[in-house]
Amino acid sequence: MSDTDDRAFRPATEVVAAGRRREWTQGVVNTPVWRASTILFDSVGDLRAAVASPNDRLYYGRRGTPTQWSLADALTRLEPGAEGTMLYPSGVAAVGMALLSVLKAGDELLMVDSAYEPTRAFCRNVLAPMGVTTRFYDPLIGAGIAELFGDRTRAVFMESPGSLTFEVQDIPAICAAAKARGIATLLDNTWATPLFLPAIASGVDLSILACTKYIVGHSDAMLGSVTAAPGLLDGLRRMTHAFGQHVGPDDAALGSRGLRTLDVRLRQHQAGGLEVARWLETHPAVARVLHPALPSCPGHDLWQRDFRGASGLFAFVLAGGSDADRAALIDGLDLFGIGFSWGGFESLALPVDPAPIRTATRWQAEGPLVRLHIGLEDPADLIADLKRGLDRYPGR
Ligand SMILES: *Cc1c(COP(=O)(O)O)cnc(C)c1O
Repeated sequence: MSDTDDRAFRPATEVVAAGRRREWTQGVVNTPVWRASTILFDSVGDLRAAVASPNDRLYYGRRGTPTQWSLADALTRLEPGAEGTMLYPSGVAAVGMALLSVLKAGDELLMVDSAYEPTRAFCRNVLAPMGVTTRFYDPLIGAGIAELFGDRTRAVFMESPGSLTFEVQDIPAICAAAKARGIATLLDNTWATPLFLPAIASGVDLSILACTKYIVGHSDAMLGSVTAAPGLLDGLRRMTHAFGQHVGPDDAALGSRGLRTLDVRLRQHQAGGLEVARWLETHPAVARVLHPALPSCPGHDLWQRDFRGASGLFAFVLAGGSDADRAALIDGLDLFGIGFSWGGFESLALPVDPAPIRTATRWQAEGPLVRLHIGLEDPADLIADLKRGLDRYPGR
């Protein structure tokens, strides 16, 4: 296989071909796992030459080897217009490093109210004590974000759709408004991945992935990434190296292995997820289904305009009932695991309660909320499992 570096392919081809430079693979299909701390040089002159260009030569284990470079390069290739990608030991680490690379003491951050809770915790526990203030905004604000910009506003953080309540944001409008004021835009793109939403091409400056989810895809490794638009990579890299962030080669190799099947897996998650979501809409024990591809979801028109697909994560509101009723429903399911995270081949069900987390908007619902991740099982079996539980559900 030749070096594919200077050619662009469709996304399904990129996930297979990207990052597999001959110099990294040495002809093996998957880039080998390079375990390294010390790199030995032939001479002092050779060592000095490596120090002079540490980003593209083997230099020291912490700065990566072909195993990590291969994955980072492939993720960059999936985001047309991007300059480069940095890897992190988790999605939360990626969120934190991305924020720190664009914010300093005295700045203000605008954070979407539907953000993943640990992202909010980072604002509280790291940004606030260092003198960065956070203002939360309505996920459906769109171009109206410009009215919130103040003299100290330096960054806008988006998560679309929100990972508990699935509001879809107007990413191009928010990015255009921010760009006009020189404000950086960050997007947690974990739900869609670059396959269903090319973030950099939509105007985003820093596209963040919890690769733990769909990139790894098999629930057996933790990994994060940030892909940067031109001009933002240097700052991100500086911050990342200052914090000594490093991904182990085995985890990077698991990320690359997952990436190779991302396109085919996502399409199956999408088909299964939609089938289950549409069925749930017809059940009397279900008040509402929050799935960006269904017209009832806030921001559905934006999803239709901007996204190329929907992944397997969504939620539904029960028509009534208590927390205990919801717990009994979830406990009774056979095919849905009960646990955090998502994006693997298995289906999961989780009770979620957004109301106490929110500050800029109010979450109101007819009953308790259940988040589902639809895995790669046959959707007919998943529907039968849910039907057994919902037919007995007392809260309707
Ligand atoms: C899981 C998740 C994260 C954090 O990823 P970890 O790898 O678990 O640290 C960030 N954002 C979203 C939307 C997530 O679902």
